[in-house]
Amino acid sequence: MLIVQKYGGTSVGGLDRIANVAERVARAKKEGNDLVVVVSAMSGETNKLIEYASYFSKTPSRREMDMLLSSGERVTAALLAIALEEMGVPAIAMTGRQAGIRTDASHTFARIEEIDPAAIQDEIKNGKVIVVAGFQGINEHGQVTTLGRGGSDLSAVAVAGALHADACEIYSDVDGVYTTDPRIEPKAKKMDFISYDEMLELASLGAKVLQSRSVELAKKLGVKIVAKSSFSEAEGTIIAKEQEGMEEVLVSGIALDKNQARVTLRKVVDRPGIAAEIFTVLANEQINVDMIIQNASSDGMTNMGFTIPQSELERAKKVIGGFNKDIGGMDFDENVCKVSVVGVGMRSHSGVAALAFSTLAKNNINIEMISTSEIKVSMIINEKYGELAVRTLHDAYQLDK
Ligand code: ASP
Ligand code: MG
Repeated sequence: MLIVQKYGGTSVGGLDRIANVAERVARAKKEGNDLVVVVSAMSGETNKLIEYASYFSKTPSRREMDMLLSSGERVTAALLAIALEEMGVPAIAMTGRQAGIRTDASHTFARIEEIDPAAIQDEIKNGKVIVVAGFQGINEHGQVTTLGRGGSDLSAVAVAGALHADACEIYSDVDGVYTTDPRIEPKAKKMDFISYDEMLELASLGAKVLQSRSVELAKKLGVKIVAKSSFSEAEGTIIAKEQEGMEEVLVSGIALDKNQARVTLRKVVDRPGIAAEIFTVLANEQINVDMIIQNASSDGMTNMGFTIPQSELERAKKVIGGFNKDIGGMDFDENVCKVSVVGVGMRSHSGVAALAFSTLAKNNINIEMISTSEIKVSMIINEKYGELAVRTLHDAYQLDK
């Protein structure tokens, strides 16, 4: 088999840990696999480099930031290759450029455009383990670029896609994706399998395991990901295309997003174009709007509500203030959160949403807004009931079973 393994910052967060990774890589190699290993910088290293730059400048050049930040991953790649060689496992470290990772021109948040796997393939033929510095590539001007925070996951998925690898194993200090946050519900269970779409909807649950952008890319390229811990032998969670039989499970997980704020606009003049104007202005300010509700109007006036990330509330207030001629009144509420019930089984079963609503009702939790998609029911509720809602929903769908 051809396996791409990716080790995150914590997994390579010290020399002893790099030695542990080398053991794992050596073992997989001895089992007869071809291996490409993508590594992150040692944990804390990228932040430290950013801090170094800030000593000199509040607005360092983004090109130089890429020169600086890409070095963290090169250090780990070279150290791992040295450790492997010392164990008698032939290995070679490569930068993003040497690995053929071409990106667009945007420094510090570049997108991968294509991968030329020839150099990697040559070294595989030579029997070597290839260790690729994650998080970086090269643009058409020959400049080093980086892929945005957490971008080593993206490197791994892209390399796995280009090589048509049999698997892409992503190692961190968490042993997989859980049905909900175990810090909120200790009965949360590790999932064996989850589809790309569910994983994207449950992004907050997977945040410590996988960068969301890499899940999108895996879906696009059809790369099967296995999320595992480098500190245990546990099986991990497979993230892949939806499989037959998955719809038998009603719900896969419950996510909680506390970073929500609600904006309510009252007595909005109901004329064509008003929603377009309000939401265009918000979009121009890069404010991400999530749920939107508009009520049936009466007397030419309507009410509208929507949610945004809490951190964007102040900017939203300023922008919407500009509409005071068209809007009778506005309130802003930071004390809300979003609870989401996610599962592909919803497509073929009825009553999933009803069970969510009645579960919250039984606990006297008022639902302030609702939005649904094919595989998700999200509810905005008072922030102080968020964790209670997660636990009671987890119970109601028997996710601990
Ligand atoms: N070292 C980079 C970061 O900390 C990339 C990564 O770890 O995936 O964001
Ligand atoms: Mg990471």
